[in-house]
Amino acid sequence: MSIVLEHYRYLHTIPELGFQEFQTADYIANQLEAVGYNVTRGVNGTTGIVAELDSAIPGPVLALRADMDALGHIINGEHCARHTCGHDAHASVVLTVAQEVIREGSVKKGRLKILFQPAEELATGAIAMVEGGAIDDVEILLGFHLRPVEECVLGEAIPAMHYSASSTLEVTFHGKPAHGARPHLGINALEAAAYAVMAVKAVPLPPHLTWSAKATRFLCDAGVTNSIPDKAIVCWDLRAAHNDTMDMLKEKVTCAIEHSAAAFGAIADVKLMKFIPAAEIHQDATALISEAIVDVLGSAGLTPPKSTVGGEDFFFYPRLRPNVKAGFWGLGTNLEPGLHHPDMHFDLKSLAVGVRIFKRCIEKTLG
Ligand SMILES: [Zn+2]
Ligand SMILES: [Zn+2]
Repeated sequence: MSIVLEHYRYLHTIPELGFQEFQTADYIANQLEAVGYNVTRGVNGTTGIVAELDSAIPGPVLALRADMDALGHIINGEHCARHTCGHDAHASVVLTVAQEVIREGSVKKGRLKILFQPAEELATGAIAMVEGGAIDDVEILLGFHLRPVEECVLGEAIPAMHYSASSTLEVTFHGKPAHGARPHLGINALEAAAYAVMAVKAVPLPPHLTWSAKATRFLCDAGVTNSIPDKAIVCWDLRAAHNDTMDMLKEKVTCAIEHSAAAFGAIADVKLMKFIPAAEIHQDATALISEAIVDVLGSAGLTPPKSTVGGEDFFFYPRLRPNVKAGFWGLGTNLEPGLHHPDMHFDLKSLAVGVRIFKRCIEKTLG
């Protein structure tokens, strides 16, 4: 069995949830130390790992990033962790690359850093790595993800994956209780919230932009039906293809919500519960990846860059450290029926392709 398959077969059997990747991280760190990497475990108090290989010759600092966490599913009524987003594949590919470049002596200048981050699915693992200083000295940072079969097939790869931004707002509407017979003495939080739900549907953004805004939770119950409810909670899920569109959307949605509440004399307390930035991909990184894909798969294997409505916490790296040239590519794996599906499966032959593409990126940058 090849090394990458060996890693995959093992990691696939020990799925662990975000920030609990103890066995996974131990296995990876031990493997990296065994081949001579300078390994930092427990980055920023998490399970994150940074491994470094210094050629001692001046040159660029290139980093590869893999994620390690599994998803929590309920299967046959039981809670379980399962690798249905392929992070076990990502970790196996990047670990194999790290080992093979040492054996093949391909790092001839500069430094290679290898990042294994926790909790991608929680959208907080990358932030923890950045705050732990993992990419402070990194010039080029590359990540990748297995792609579903409808995006590209085995033997193809996508040089740039343009993920979307997503935000969750939780808004508490505060009104004033009163008897149902005397509504003029109270402030109806339910009516204010319902008004806000409709007002958000009327928010104007330039029509050529890609975005959506919709209420996804509405909680309100005063316990009785003959009094005026003084509290309602509404959540909104916001999506946008670009970060500046998301900024504009958040501002306009917040304005619509606050003014809807004000129209009733209610107060809206707007909280940002979750945020993932959209892709910010550097053209130099995409050019490097494109060349590597062509070298490995030929020009027929290079597909055009793609946009996806999904989110990926990798993009906190360039968001928080804008000087980093970030690149993120997609690997064709014949993956079905889809990412996050409990029965997700893909062609394991793709793992070796992933290894070769990343190795070419390293040879071209540090060789
Ligand atoms: Zn996922
Ligand atoms: Zn994923």
